[in-house]
Amino acid sequence: MMVSSAGPNMLVTNTDSVAVVQLAAEHERAMMLKIRQSQGIVETTEDRQRDKERKRVADKFEDMRKEKHWSEKKREEMTERDWRIFREDFNIAYKGGQSGLPIRNWEEADLPETLMKAIEKQGYKKPSPIQMAAIPLGLLQRDVIGIAETGSGKTAAFTLPMLVYIMRQPKMTEEIAAEGPYAVVMAPTRELTQQIEEEAVKMAANTDYRIVSVVGGQSIEDQGFKLRKGCEIIIATPGRLGDCLEKSYAVLNQCNYVVLDEADRMIDMGFEPQVMAVLDAMPSANLKPDAEDAELQTNKVYRTTYMFSATMPPQVERLARKYLRRPVVVTIGSAGRATDNVTQRVMMVKENQKHTMLDSELSYVDDKRVIIFVNTKKQCDNVFRHLEPLGYSCTVLHGGKDQTQREQGLAGFREEKYTVLIATDVAGRGIDVPDVALVINYDMPGTVEAYTHRIGRTGRAGRKGAAITFLTLQVSYGISWS
Ligand code: ADP
Ligand code: MG
Repeated sequence: MMVSSAGPNMLVTNTDSVAVVQLAAEHERAMMLKIRQSQGIVETTEDRQRDKERKRVADKFEDMRKEKHWSEKKREEMTERDWRIFREDFNIAYKGGQSGLPIRNWEEADLPETLMKAIEKQGYKKPSPIQMAAIPLGLLQRDVIGIAETGSGKTAAFTLPMLVYIMRQPKMTEEIAAEGPYAVVMAPTRELTQQIEEEAVKMAANTDYRIVSVVGGQSIEDQGFKLRKGCEIIIATPGRLGDCLEKSYAVLNQCNYVVLDEADRMIDMGFEPQVMAVLDAMPSANLKPDAEDAELQTNKVYRTTYMFSATMPPQVERLARKYLRRPVVVTIGSAGRATDNVTQRVMMVKENQKHTMLDSELSYVDDKRVIIFVNTKKQCDNVFRHLEPLGYSCTVLHGGKDQTQREQGLAGFREEKYTVLIATDVAGRGIDVPDVALVINYDMPGTVEAYTHRIGRTGRAGRKGAAITFLTLQVSYGISWS
């Protein structure tokens, strides 16, 4: 690395674009001064003050200058990195097949007006993370396995694409109704089916779709009677729906939209045979081909299966393997977080003790990989200047670096050419860094989210990690722990 004459900043190379910008600014100032002098204009203190303020603001936004936040971008402007940050922000993780892109807001789902109105009426301002991920997949009729905790809005996540699917089918005449519903939702208990029914009724408020619930504890004859009148959607417990099929109160000859809600609980309660009996009663000719590269016929209706589960025990996996086709696995929230594996420590320090504390913490980690997070580009350079002479092989990642430099630094870190990465949040997020032994928050992050993201860099893939945070008393930059 060649050090330029731009100043004491050891990181500035002769190819550094920021250095070029700074040099240009410097140049401009000198020119202005010359012009002023030649015209006899004296630089006032106000001028100087203004220049200083400009420089301060510029420094402050150094890190942000290069990259707009994803929320300020149009959908088509989103880069791969933006999507990665978006997924991190909402704790969305995908596994399996081509996943497609999540929606960032309701508009992007491109739902029919009737459904948008229903959503608005419910006061759902933004989709929840599982909705962001699962709705577009459902609209593409991809099979989905959703792993998300209770209360995360799973019902609307499958109800909305289900309603869109039904809208695409021929209107249900009496004749069509004789072949059974277009969609079936199964859940382990009566209470759950009731909750699903309530939500489905709200979302379908502006349609004339009939929703029938088929659960134990009520007269099976009454349910049979309702079913014979026809309905688009059945919401059922597997046992009772199985009984209805056996007694020919229900048929599923045209059911191609299936939801298994709380699959693990259904299995726990011993419903596996009943669930399978119901699934086997549906036309199997409509199952999508299993092969990875199989083409789907455009004029054919395929079965779409949605499965939700908090956990994935072997029986649930078996069920998924048998009835789902190339499912996308979406994991939301703490299920995808590694924080349980991370030992977290906070140390009260004075600003001027940070260097010493850092040295002592680093002395314990041998040559394992460490990430040091700081809040500003300036602090990045400060830490680098401290560590480099001590013999640490460090690399720096901040918004002042261009894409190539960032990638080179990161590659070096991955290959352990560098063992210490010093980064700001802006640069350090959305990048795929390998598991590290230790994360040091040299500066306290400004938000809880930033803290979570930072420490999420360690303790990955089931390994143990550690995080240390230096906390100073002069917390002047307004931490919002909300
Ligand atoms: P889950 O099935 O994941 O346990 P539910 O689908 O029952 O969760 O939803 C939990 C609660 O959140 C319900 O009261 C539902 O009305 C509400 N809800 C769902 N989606 C949203 C949203 N996008 N915005 C606000 N509230 C929502
Ligand atoms: Mg639910």
